[in-house]
Amino acid sequence: MTESRQTRAPVGPTTPLQYVKGVGPHRAKLLERKGLVTVGDALFHLPMRHEDRTRFTPLRAIRPGETVTCSGVVTGISPPPPGRRRQPLVILLRDESGYAAATVWGRPWIARAVQRGQRMIVHGRGARYQDKVTLQVQEWETVDAADDEPIHAGALVPVYSSTEGLPQQALRSLLWRLVEAHAHEIEETLPDAVRSRRRLLPLADAVRGAHFPTSEGARAAAMRRLAFDDFLLLQLGLAILRSRTTRQRGVSMRPRGELIARLRASLPFSLTAAQERVWQDIRRDMAAPYPMHRLLQGDVGSGKTVVAALAVCAAVEAGYQAAVMAPTEILAEQHLATFRRLLEPLGIGVTLLTSGLKGRERAARRAAIAAGEIGCVIGTHALVQEPVAFKRLGLAVVDEQHRFGVHQRARLKGKGERPDMLVMTATPIPRTLALTLYGDLDVSVLDELPPGRKPVRTEARTESRRRQIYDFLRAQIADGRQVYVVYPLVEESELIDLKAATDMAHRLQHDVFPDLTVGLLHGRLSSEDKDAIMRSFKAGAIQVLVATTVIEVGIDVPNASVMLIEHAERFGLSQLHQLRGRVGRGPWKSYCILLTSGRLGEEAQRRVEAMAATHDGFKIAEVDLQLRGPGEFFGTRQSGLPEFRVADLLRDAAILEEARLEAQTIIAEDAELRHTVHRGLRQALLTRWRGKLDLASVG
Ligand code: ADP
Ligand code: MG
Repeated sequence: MTESRQTRAPVGPTTPLQYVKGVGPHRAKLLERKGLVTVGDALFHLPMRHEDRTRFTPLRAIRPGETVTCSGVVTGISPPPPGRRRQPLVILLRDESGYAAATVWGRPWIARAVQRGQRMIVHGRGARYQDKVTLQVQEWETVDAADDEPIHAGALVPVYSSTEGLPQQALRSLLWRLVEAHAHEIEETLPDAVRSRRRLLPLADAVRGAHFPTSEGARAAAMRRLAFDDFLLLQLGLAILRSRTTRQRGVSMRPRGELIARLRASLPFSLTAAQERVWQDIRRDMAAPYPMHRLLQGDVGSGKTVVAALAVCAAVEAGYQAAVMAPTEILAEQHLATFRRLLEPLGIGVTLLTSGLKGRERAARRAAIAAGEIGCVIGTHALVQEPVAFKRLGLAVVDEQHRFGVHQRARLKGKGERPDMLVMTATPIPRTLALTLYGDLDVSVLDELPPGRKPVRTEARTESRRRQIYDFLRAQIADGRQVYVVYPLVEESELIDLKAATDMAHRLQHDVFPDLTVGLLHGRLSSEDKDAIMRSFKAGAIQVLVATTVIEVGIDVPNASVMLIEHAERFGLSQLHQLRGRVGRGPWKSYCILLTSGRLGEEAQRRVEAMAATHDGFKIAEVDLQLRGPGEFFGTRQSGLPEFRVADLLRDAAILEEARLEAQTIIAEDAELRHTVHRGLRQALLTRWRGKLDLASVG
């Protein structure tokens, strides 16, 4: 494989597709729309799936609800009447078993692309339409008796995502030709040692097998190799980032410990064993002469804030400043109150810096920060976005990490001379994901809740029980408790959602609880208003707090005992878990009521069931991951990490572990991939990470 580099063919993987025989400028444009510009791009445009075309479902055997692939001759085509978008195109098909109607919704142009007498392969779902069983077509193609017919039938046939003007068969033929002519030119990226140790196919064979496998086994072997590459390139990049951090000199903070002891003595509780252990991890990292890069994972209510306060205290005692970054203003304000309560008695100055702050006040705070007069600065994105200068930033704490991406983390770090970094997240994630998303961090886990916490009783209810629910809220409030009523708010329908929440607050105040105080909290309020409402709620002056998801993370009001979630079916699982975590923080029995609008979809049903079944954030996260898939789950785009071609974090967890081990071995030997055997890897890495990983130049 490596030898072929010298004798590159005139058309190779970097050749624009336009110059490939049979493509031409028109097709090239269509291909470009799919992001395929070069031969190499096309070779890695892998099929969505494969279809076993040695066996088709007989037309007579189509059943509603079942997904099938059938092959038949077109005997009739009836397009929807012009202008009638609500009707499908109906294609009548015949095979040895009989006739069936295939319906195509929303793509009337297909009527022009097929002809009577042609053989058609259709893939879709059985359904009832006008009292007959029909096949609702998802994918289709016509089969011409062309020379290359064997690649379209009688085998495991690749199915690509195609577009209008670029039919399935044309795309498949093109890929067949490209794979035949150019797959062998793909340069191997893995060193031989790794390939043989991990029993992986050569890359060129894997690409061939991923398109046109000779058997299921061959396909699996091909996918394994490609998934391995996905994981390896991710893990290598993360390992490089991490090895750079550990090779850097950072600040070594060795406080005498007197302030820390005073802070600990002032707490009304003793630390849990988990908090104690995690605090020792952090303390050790802070004392070490390289930058800390630690992720603190802890379920809601596990007591992360106190641990962060200890770290801040240690930094200040060692003569440095600390920054604490929160994802919302409400949370920043709450942290301000908590950190003031904990740290000001020790003489540590705590201040807030948000984007809401204006004019002289802001200038004054900035000046105090620059002069080093303030030990602890709390803020939102404003902390990273604005030109805030610290005199001596030694520690950066990022709370509720999932809201921030890799880049924001990096910018906060840039505010100091390689400060220590503590990232806290309340969305616990399974190990495989932690390795992936946070592979550049060390991980500590708070796997224990403070003593005396009772599980929050969780119940799903429908609209018909609203009256009883209100009676229950009233009884709780009569006992001295407070309640949350939460409304969903999504960007697309923000104004409507906001109105619903506002109307509800109004109704609750005037019709349901006229003798109580109902507050309304949402993201559009000014920060003073938000602050005022949170203060009154904390002080007990508001009994019912109607809120949008702004209270999802971090809010800590131990006296609140009921979380009523309206339209619970519209929330994601981890959101529901976070919301539930707002109650059950005091000694009282607490409740989470999931109010749904009756009939639920399958996924919503599973979310509600998972909530009732467990309180363990790690288990919830796993179900969430299964329901949403990894891409959605951790928002890859936002995270700034390279995307996978084929790897699936759930299905391929074992491959991920293997790739991670190899990545560590490789980086331990050759931290910047300078060796000749790593040339291919180095190139692949640079391409995948698209400039986000500037490797030191060779030599
Ligand atoms: P989270 O991890 O969700 O951020 P917090 O830091 O807000 O949790 O802590 C939740 C509540 O538990 C707070 O009211 C906090 O004062 C309390 N708490 C924290 N640690 C302990 C402990 N060791 N014992 C008892 N209560 C604790
Ligand atoms: Mg918190």
